Amino acid sequence: MARLLRLIEDQPEVARPFLKQLHPHTGKAYLIGLTGSPGVGKSSLVDRLIGEFRKQNLTVAVVAVDPTSPFSGGALLGDRVRMQKHATDPGVFIRSLATRGAFGGLTPAVQGVVQVLDAAGFDRILIETVGVGQDEVDIVRLAQTTFVITVPGLGDEIQAIKAGIMEIADIMAVNKCDRPGAEQTLQQLNSMLEMNKFTGRERDWPPRIVKISARTGEGLSELMETLEAHRLFLTRERPDLLAAKRRNHFTELVLDLVKEETIRRVQQTLTTDSSWEERLAMVLTGENDPYTLAEELLGDREME
Ligand code: GDP
Repeated sequence: MARLLRLIEDQPEVARPFLKQLHPHTGKAYLIGLTGSPGVGKSSLVDRLIGEFRKQNLTVAVVAVDPTSPFSGGALLGDRVRMQKHATDPGVFIRSLATRGAFGGLTPAVQGVVQVLDAAGFDRILIETVGVGQDEVDIVRLAQTTFVITVPGLGDEIQAIKAGIMEIADIMAVNKCDRPGAEQTLQQLNSMLEMNKFTGRERDWPPRIVKISARTGEGLSELMETLEAHRLFLTRERPDLLAAKRRNHFTELVLDLVKEETIRRVQQTLTTDSSWEERLAMVLTGENDPYTLAEELLGDREME
């Protein structure tokens, strides 16, 4: 498993035949995507969640993704700390991913890793990512439950949440509730939810907000209950939503794979085609234009 995971990062094309074979064995794990700005307590909370899941005799894999990190593979600092704690537990597996695909895409790599862990039989897979940007949103959307973490007193954070994260969060946690201001943040978030109701954007599952402290463990049991409630909501009450999520997920993945492959092929043409410089020169002189050149490269148009 570890060898295949490394292959996915280093030589995705070599890993692909294995991933094809594994596909029919996937779809059993329950995926939880977890995101929040640096320092909100994701690592601490993941550690707590691992502990709670293990108490329930569930096996857990964690995929920690940092799209901004230049490091490749291996264990990042936070993981080393966590790994020490769970190192002797065969029911826990933690993996960091920081490399992008050859052409900038991260999702296919994350998807590949998750697929392997799923086929390996882990009951719960936590996909942890830093920040609240588009990359993170794409990544946490791989999961069935999207879990967003914030902390009291981050004015900007609330803005970011307003801007989009609220749309995707199934569960929000206000962590560090042992610190002042948690109640106020909770109220702000709740009033935002109320507003969504009035603007008609109420969802099938209105996001639930819980107040926790990864440090003291306060609110942890409520968080576990909420995570389970969302899982049961999807699996028992709304299998149609679950199926729709899976469809979206595979649509995105297939598009990502096509995008990667198209760019790879076109780039290959560029490096091997001796007429490329000449054709580019024609764009510079105005004899050709970049739009036509792009169409030519895609094969939509016969090359002149
Ligand atoms: P991450 O960057 O989101 O993974 O955050 P970490 O888990 O590394 O936590 C960042 C810092 O916040 C660390 O110093 C933690 O000890 C601290 N921290 C995490 N959870 C809590 C909490 O519930 N209460 C308090 N007071 N500090 C916390």
